[in-house]
Amino acid sequence: MKAVTAAVVLVSVFAVSAPVLAQGGRGNQAPGPSVTVNGQTFSQQALFQRNIGGPDDMYTAVPPHKVIGNIYYVGTKSLAVFLVVTPAGNILINTTFERNVPLIQKSIEQLGFKFADTKIILGSHAHGDHQEGDAMVKQMTGAQAMAMAEDVPALEAMKPGGKQHPVDRVLHDGDTVTLGNTTLTAHLTPGHTHGCTTWTLKANDNGKSYDVAIIGSVGTNPGFKLVNNPDNPTQAAEYQQAFRKLRSLKVDVPLGSHPSMYNLDKKFPLIGKGPNPFIDPAGYVAEIDMAEAMFKAVLAEQQKAAGVQ
Ligand SMILES: [Zn+2]
Repeated sequence: MKAVTAAVVLVSVFAVSAPVLAQGGRGNQAPGPSVTVNGQTFSQQALFQRNIGGPDDMYTAVPPHKVIGNIYYVGTKSLAVFLVVTPAGNILINTTFERNVPLIQKSIEQLGFKFADTKIILGSHAHGDHQEGDAMVKQMTGAQAMAMAEDVPALEAMKPGGKQHPVDRVLHDGDTVTLGNTTLTAHLTPGHTHGCTTWTLKANDNGKSYDVAIIGSVGTNPGFKLVNNPDNPTQAAEYQQAFRKLRSLKVDVPLGSHPSMYNLDKKFPLIGKGPNPFIDPAGYVAEIDMAEAMFKAVLAEQQKAAGVQ
């Protein structure tokens, strides 16, 4: 009975999410390979499902909260949105779907900040579940939208309600974005999309400085074709480039485009009850280990199926 229920849920999630998330087309809905890392086992399908959650999770707010320093969470149960607050205005990282923009505005106001103080819009990667709302937020706040060059074509193809996707500044790997007292660095971590971006910044909290990373995504979604893909012949090499980059970063506070990438559900109840639960360098390495193991398993399976080494 349980299995039947799960299957029904999966089918309905894909019916809703596959077209809007631009997941790259789905040939089959098999679970894909499974990997076990640090005692945790996921199939390709289950890891993807962990990230996107159920349909309601994408549109249901998590109580807005401080992460660390001047970084706040204003997103939903499965789609992360971060607000970086500075004396010169605020930076919004990810807008998710347009329908979530009022929810994000409300979360920002619940924290005592002003939505109109949003000066810069940044994003994790050019998929609708993370950046569809950029144009609407720009319309409402006048903020400048900045994007990694390699993601610009995919972003410009994203036109909710016919609105032009805003790109006010084009970024390249290693570029920095400064507002007030805060500087973020844009790291190109491609594969999931060509311009998938991992953001790093320093957060000062209780007199200490912490290295924060917002992982763009290194998820290998069901339907991604890593071998012999004429539309994206370099995708596997791009992922390898991303893993090298991510492993070169020293990270105290791992965050990500989906809150499950850093176990928000486990950390949220611990807020204010001891050490800051978001300080979790081991969690960063564990997440990269899982994502890379899955990527390698998916690549190996597709290479075997295609008869290539
Ligand atoms: Zn994505």
